Amino acid sequence: MHAAVHAAPATRLLLSGNEAVARAAWEAGVRVAAAYPGTPSTEILECLAAYPDLHAQWSTNEKVALEVAIGASLAGSRALAAMKHVGVNVASDALMTQTLLGARGGLVLAVADDVGMSSSQNEQDSRFWGRFAHLPVLEPADAEEAYAYTREAFALSERFETPVILRLTTRVCHVKGLVTVGAREAVPARGFERDPARYVMVPAHARRRLPIMLEREARLAEHAEASPLNRLEDGADRRVGFVVSGPAYLAVREAFPEAPVLKLGLSHPLPVGLARRLAEKAERVVVVEETEPLVEQELRAAGLEVTGKAVLPRMGELSADVVGRAVRAWLGEPVEEHARPAPVIFPRPPTMCPACPHLGVFFTLSRLRNVIISGDIGCYTLGAGHPWNALDTTICMGASLSVALGLDKGRGEQDRGRHVVAVIGDSTFLHMGMQGLLDIVYNRGDVTVLILDNRAVGMTGGQDHPGTGRDARGEEAPRVDFAALVRALGVPAERVHEVDPYELPTLFRTLRAEIKRGGPSVIITNRPCVLIDAYRPTPPLRVDEARCTGCGNCLDVGCPAILVTRRERAVKPSGKEVELAFVRIESLACTGCNLCVGTCAPDAIVPMEGRA
Ligand code: SF4
Ligand code: SF4
Repeated sequence: MHAAVHAAPATRLLLSGNEAVARAAWEAGVRVAAAYPGTPSTEILECLAAYPDLHAQWSTNEKVALEVAIGASLAGSRALAAMKHVGVNVASDALMTQTLLGARGGLVLAVADDVGMSSSQNEQDSRFWGRFAHLPVLEPADAEEAYAYTREAFALSERFETPVILRLTTRVCHVKGLVTVGAREAVPARGFERDPARYVMVPAHARRRLPIMLEREARLAEHAEASPLNRLEDGADRRVGFVVSGPAYLAVREAFPEAPVLKLGLSHPLPVGLARRLAEKAERVVVVEETEPLVEQELRAAGLEVTGKAVLPRMGELSADVVGRAVRAWLGEPVEEHARPAPVIFPRPPTMCPACPHLGVFFTLSRLRNVIISGDIGCYTLGAGHPWNALDTTICMGASLSVALGLDKGRGEQDRGRHVVAVIGDSTFLHMGMQGLLDIVYNRGDVTVLILDNRAVGMTGGQDHPGTGRDARGEEAPRVDFAALVRALGVPAERVHEVDPYELPTLFRTLRAEIKRGGPSVIITNRPCVLIDAYRPTPPLRVDEARCTGCGNCLDVGCPAILVTRRERAVKPSGKEVELAFVRIESLACTGCNLCVGTCAPDAIVPMEGRA
């Protein structure tokens, strides 16, 4: 359990931004917290689940998480929903209506933008949701501010009866800083008050709420001009004044310590008056923001002469080096080519873990001919890479099934003989995949679906979900029966199979038979992620060098525990020249899953204790 959970008020702790948000939410009296895991937001809910006096839950997807938080807010409790940036796309249906209802108990949506895409399929600027939904956006720059702004977000939410977006970025979420914590506020639930005109969004009610929402935004704009979250800092170097939001503030302060700065903590509605005052102090104004030129465009629209993305990159994080060099070059100052050379890091492609149950699946898929494979979001997206090259599409959470149906229905003559396979993980299937399967069944698609049930949200660190049998606190919970579920969605019972992904011949046979039959079918693989408690390793293996012929077949499994020790060129009796790859197994990493054994014709892969 994290130290923050037991820390007494006034204790100074080294916390990540996510831990700080969790502690602040608990202190703010949050009674309900819901999330779907996603880097870099995952730890917010993980930390909240460690606090005893609130309800914390993993939800099946971000829309459900937000709706749970909305329900708690309507019941008069303070509530928080947490997700990564792409999750807001999923939750947006609820968000765009909730902005009309407003909040009752304080309602905060913590969104973590993966700036630089360390682990995401796209880069999005969640501040747009604030503009789109007319909601206030708070942007902390570090862990200390993440803590303070979270507390403030609940106060703001109740004062203006609005949901509040807390926009975090990877840097804020994961970098640690010192935070002085406080005590938990006693904020009892105020109870649900029946008010259909406000809470039932039929068109007539929604029309009446619209002006209330716009009037709220106008009051928030006034508040933004006076809020201590927006700070005008003076400076002696007046060549450039900076308008800065989020963690880019630290970059600007490091690169230009003497410049005047408008630091935006409450960045929507934008305090245009404060920006005008900054413009009076400086010869020029540069807007520094990750990632889109949102503030820049709003200031321009308000008649201010500012620059931003014409000077600074629109993608990725803005470090002091990046901001300093870009702005200095723009000012016409000499800039050294490589003021701070990048550290030398050995390039390492992302790969699956040794013995990962997905290895066998992608090895098998890579051996199938005439298939189009539709992939999804999760560890198994790595199936697109070497050595499997076994994914043809990946769009977003749950899309593999519906995209597969589209590939089936939209196929041209040239693809008539090709079979369509969709691959999805257990959590992703529950998140958004079930509807796609229903669509395949309903529309009589020729699609074979592989549900890779590894009993965890593996990509984000093995969090629980309704298919794991445990809840967010690790306590026993009802467990989804995937086979029963897919049968209930209409897949014929004889077309539903549960297969051990370490048994390659069975997996291959089942897959080949199903794709040939036509119509919908589902193959569920049933081995746990190697990183969770449910995984049971067996004794490791080794390569008997005397027997290894260097055929390299075992490398096609893609297990990182198998290493090439040397390569040789050889001429076969047929006269064909081949490259041989002799290998060894890193026994410390090997869990003895036996996957590679079936690929080795000369039986050179043997138990550690085994004899040649
Ligand atoms: S048995 Fe083979 S595939 Fe399994 S972990 Fe060991 S080296 Fe990797
Ligand atoms: S499959 Fe067997 S023989 Fe071939 S490289 Fe691997 S260990 Fe050596």
